[in-house]
Amino acid sequence: MEPFPQPSLLRALARGSVGRCPRCGSGHLFRYWVSMVDDCPRCGMHFERSQGYWLGSMLINLAVTMGIWLVTFVGLMVATWPDVPWGWVMAVVVAVTVVVPVAFHPIARTIWVALERHVRARSEPYA
Ligand SMILES: [Zn+2]
Repeated sequence: MEPFPQPSLLRALARGSVGRCPRCGSGHLFRYWVSMVDDCPRCGMHFERSQGYWLGSMLINLAVTMGIWLVTFVGLMVATWPDVPWGWVMAVVVAVTVVVPVAFHPIARTIWVALERHVRARSEPYA
């Protein structure tokens, strides 16, 4: 297996933000949308390091969902003020609340791996 040096944080985040392995840039990390492989098919990096490892990705996903929810809600209110169609606004923000976390799930995971591995690499080798 060829060696894969530790990438810069920017490069790791760029790879993670498109759902690729932060270390080598390989794709095919998800069997289905929500099921991530255990190890990178190219560099062999094991992703889930311990129980509860994905809590960080859930936090990233929650923050992104809340941000998109807030922008959508305020944007719709500002765009339709003063006659805000509350039923329609409610339907849209509920859809955002359901769709965004599922759609962003793989990206949140690979971004989390990039961040966690970068911080961890300061104290131990990139593995
Ligand atoms: Zn890899």
